[in-house]
Amino acid sequence: MRFSCSTCGETYPLDGLDFHCRCGGLFRLDRQAGEAVGASVSLGEVPTPVLERTLNHLPVRLKLDFMRPTGSFKDRGAFVLVNALKDLGIDHVVEDSSGNAGAAIAGYCAAAGIRCDIYIPQGTSPGKIKQLAAYQAHVVQVPGSRDDTAQAILEAARTTYYASHVYNPLFFEGTKSMAHELAGQGGIPDCIVIPAGNGTMLLGAYIGFSELGRLPRIIAVQSSRCAPVHARFHGLEAQAPAPTVAEGIAIGRPMRMAEMLAAVRDSGGDCITVTDEAVLAAQRMLGAMGIYVEATAAVAVAGALEYFPGASGAGLDIVVPLTGSGLKK
Ligand SMILES: [Zn+2]
Repeated sequence: MRFSCSTCGETYPLDGLDFHCRCGGLFRLDRQAGEAVGASVSLGEVPTPVLERTLNHLPVRLKLDFMRPTGSFKDRGAFVLVNALKDLGIDHVVEDSSGNAGAAIAGYCAAAGIRCDIYIPQGTSPGKIKQLAAYQAHVVQVPGSRDDTAQAILEAARTTYYASHVYNPLFFEGTKSMAHELAGQGGIPDCIVIPAGNGTMLLGAYIGFSELGRLPRIIAVQSSRCAPVHARFHGLEAQAPAPTVAEGIAIGRPMRMAEMLAAVRDSGGDCITVTDEAVLAAQRMLGAMGIYVEATAAVAVAGALEYFPGASGAGLDIVVPLTGSGLKK
């Protein structure tokens, strides 16, 4: 296995410090048939449950992907990435997420005995740091803005392996497993509704379903307060991002925008936005059904209700993955 540049084709080893090509292109994973990442580092991964439910008048299958060891689907990416790092003999990594991705990487690094430094902006809420601290991650609070944190991680990544959930294709090699699971849990759906920020679930689903030979229509859902992918998809002018309850997908400039657009188009899908009000209503609806998720996860439910009003989704097999637990705050 190796990385190759999706722009110029240049190849790089998996264990180097380069996390993108010298030409600026992003890496993809070159994997020969039969090559696989090990699975010695485990926190007890099991397939996540699927529930058949009716939301208002819309029958869907809810994929409870927050039921993972660290409480979000990001574990799928961390599982494969950290297992690969363990096999490569890497013993120290840096990452820059205070959210679900950071928690997943910190948790799996703890299980693997890999030192993990997480860079976050100063002022990040104590609740978010609590889980990182429990996993004994070394939390580096960077004074200033989010951009200052981005600068600090780039400095750190010059000398320490960058276990990025955005740049590193091994993370997406992990998030594809949801598609393979679904294939054995009632089959590949007609349509899948996915919250979209950096594209970690969207691109993983695209890779996984592509391997299976049949793509469901991918409906990518963004917050109306931060919707760069939606704007580009429909040829609209992007608005400046504003704070949203769907903080997990509030990504103003997604690195893998072009890949996300290509995946949605290839699937015959669409890109829509939902308001904070609709997201909070969807979160309440799930809670009233006994399902406790974070607001970002409720984006998918709000999106499904927006895209399939009334009985328009009848007869379709629609899967709505729920990405993150509500227990974290
Ligand atoms: Zn290149």
